[in-house]
Amino acid sequence: MKKQSETQPIMNGADTWLDGDDLRWAARHWAVRISVKMPVVQVRRMRTKWASMSTNGRMTLNTDLLTLPKHLGEFVIIHELVHMLAPNHGKVFKSFMHAYLPDWQTREKNLRELEKQALKNQFKKPGN
Ligand SMILES: [Zn+2]
Repeated sequence: MKKQSETQPIMNGADTWLDGDDLRWAARHWAVRISVKMPVVQVRRMRTKWASMSTNGRMTLNTDLLTLPKHLGEFVIIHELVHMLAPNHGKVFKSFMHAYLPDWQTREKNLRELEKQALKNQFKKPGN
């Protein structure tokens, strides 16, 4: 099994998001790096998803991402952008993820762990 790097070379400064514009900036930055069409980025509250990408290039990011460490939000953003190259999570998708974010699997695991933790703490319980 391949060892995943723990380093986060693209991180600068503290590992936290400033605001929605910070998220939008990251999405645009990564769109350029991945060479996909610049998405129209919308930041709003979502109940069940961290983010979504529509076929017409509209990216919606959950405001809850602002509460995550930056490197995990970045993973979510890159995941959505790579969907512009590969619609499902098959081999092609994974090879793009490896190319652009070599430690993506570690980040995904950390994100799932945080979600579990949040569920335990009943963090994510909006209204209901
Ligand atoms: Zn996906």
